[in-house]
Parts: sequence; C-alpha cells; structure tokens
Amino acid sequence: MDNVVETAELSPLSTLTSETLSSRARRAILQALVNGHYVPGQRLNEVEIAAALGISRGPVRESIQGLASEGFLEVVPHRGAIVKQFSESEIAALYELRRVHEGAGALFAAERATPGEVAMMKEVLDSALAAADSEDPAPYTPELDFHVRVMQAAHSEFVRAAAVDVNAKLLLARARSGQIRQRAHQAHDEHLKIVEAIEKGDGALAERLMRDHLLTSQQHAATVLGVSSEEHA
Ligand SMILES: [Zn+2]
Repeated sequence: MDNVVETAELSPLSTLTSETLSSRARRAILQALVNGHYVPGQRLNEVEIAAALGISRGPVRESIQGLASEGFLEVVPHRGAIVKQFSESEIAALYELRRVHEGAGALFAAERATPGEVAMMKEVLDSALAAADSEDPAPYTPELDFHVRVMQAAHSEFVRAAAVDVNAKLLLARARSGQIRQRAHQAHDEHLKIVEAIEKGDGALAERLMRDHLLTSQQHAATVLGVSSEEHA
C-alpha cells in the first residue's frame, strides 16, 4: 500500500503556546495515527501534513523522524516514512508489556491513590458504562480513560509514560479493525473490582485483577477479530 495520507483530520496548529512546533506537530500526527486516520503501510506526505497543520516542512520532518525513532513509523529508502505495521508477535509482546506496566500501576495505585483519585476512577466507569449503552461511536475513550486514571493514581511518571507508549502502539496496531462492544459490560465489572481493590489498599489483588482483565481483553480480541485488535482498552 502506498497511498498518500489524507490530511482532513489534521487542522492548523494554534500559535498561542510556547510548546515547540515540532512537538505539537508530533502530537497531532500521533493522534491521527491512533485514531486510525492512517493505516499501516501508508506513506506520510510531509508537504500535505505541513499544509494541513499550517506550518513549514521543517518541524513536520522533525516530528516524523521522532515518531520513527519511537517505533510508530518506519523510514523506507526512496519511499519516506510509512506507518509501522506490527506483526502478530510484536502485538502479543505489546500486550504482554501492557500487563506488566498496568499491573504495576494498579499495585502502586492501591498504595498511593488519594480518595479523590479513586472517586475519579468511579466517575469514569459510570461514563464508560453509559457510553457502552449508547450508540455513540466514539472509539475507546471511556474505557481507556479508566486505565489512564489508574496510571495517574500510581504516581510513577516512568511507569505511566511507558504505559502511554505501549497503548499508543496498540491503538495504532488495531486502529483499522473498528470497534466491537460485546465485552463492554464484562469489562465494566472487571474495572469495578480493580477499583475496589485499589480502594481497599490491596495492591497484590489490584495487580492480579488488572493483569487478568487485560489478558481476558486480549483473548477476547483474538477470538473475535484476530490478535491485532481488541474491543476495548
Ligand atoms: Zn479495561
């Protein structure tokens, strides 16, 4: 596949911030990647992206090089940067790493979460359940929000950042397969048990429940769609 990207979902960057242009371009491109706006194997057109973001090519090139070194893109001689296509074994390895990071995150959260953070987790679960029952096609967000909240409550910037990286790669790997919702309610029950363990301060239980939950999600995805996709985060 050698399609040039459509840049409809990239909009001009605001100039009202001190963040560098290349880091904002990186964020915009990464967002488009995990949203499934690009498909694996697709070539990124630097000129079109620069035009869509309303910036010059320099920062775009810089951010594309950065995303390539982070493993989201591959630079192919004479073709430029293409969207990384993860193999099944790489995807399995990403899931494995996700269980390690987020299992540790749940354990740390059980030790360190504030009552306010636990309350936020419960709030996010309510929204996730509401989203599961609605026809709203918004992808992943409520379920992923729960996992994000747990990782924030872990109060470990390194393990949080590692989880963000792995989840972005998994979103990219399975972006093309769309959504299914069959497991939303079961996932909700599992999330609830994780929050209860965190609230009780039972780190060992929270870690085990998180790892089991992520493994079940992965196996469900493998059954329904093949290992490259998952119905929820
Ligand atoms: Zn989940």
